[in-house]
Amino acid sequence: MFSGKTSRLIELLERERFAGRKVILFKPEMDKRYSENMVKTHKGIELDATIVKTNSSGIKALINVASDYDVIGVDEAQFWDENSGIEEALNNLASSKKIVYVSTLNKDYKGRPFSVSENLLAYADTIHSLTAVCTKCGEDAVFSQRMIDGVEESGPRIVIGGKEAYQPRCRNCFVVQ
Ligand SMILES: [Zn+2]
Repeated sequence: MFSGKTSRLIELLERERFAGRKVILFKPEMDKRYSENMVKTHKGIELDATIVKTNSSGIKALINVASDYDVIGVDEAQFWDENSGIEEALNNLASSKKIVYVSTLNKDYKGRPFSVSENLLAYADTIHSLTAVCTKCGEDAVFSQRMIDGVEESGPRIVIGGKEAYQPRCRNCFVVQ
């Protein structure tokens, strides 16, 4: 979170486009922070995105569309359903002469690994590990602290009514709940 991973992904895809390759970017249906058909970074850089469901039918759609492209980008991969098979699907695309770039968050707001991300990291040829800046002390942040109404709160996955936000935190400032 706030580590610039979407910006890096877009930058890498733009390089491929300049190199003359056909590029497509997918984003999960549930990531509705910004306008529907765009992936927008916190810095405001935009790229057209194709929205796909995060289940096995979404994977079929992704594979179908991807066949017409040289380079496949996938943003916010941690949002894909566990056991959807997205990791294997992307690995297979990479093995069939496609260039695949994925951005993913490795840990959830409780500091637990996303299993989709664990598998993607294992499949990846190259990993660019990015950090954010801890909002408490300024050190490198590798955790996302969930804040509800301004208080550190892990609580249930679904929050009703409260104002939810996330803060990057380093290991020392991350409050384990
Ligand atoms: Zn800190």
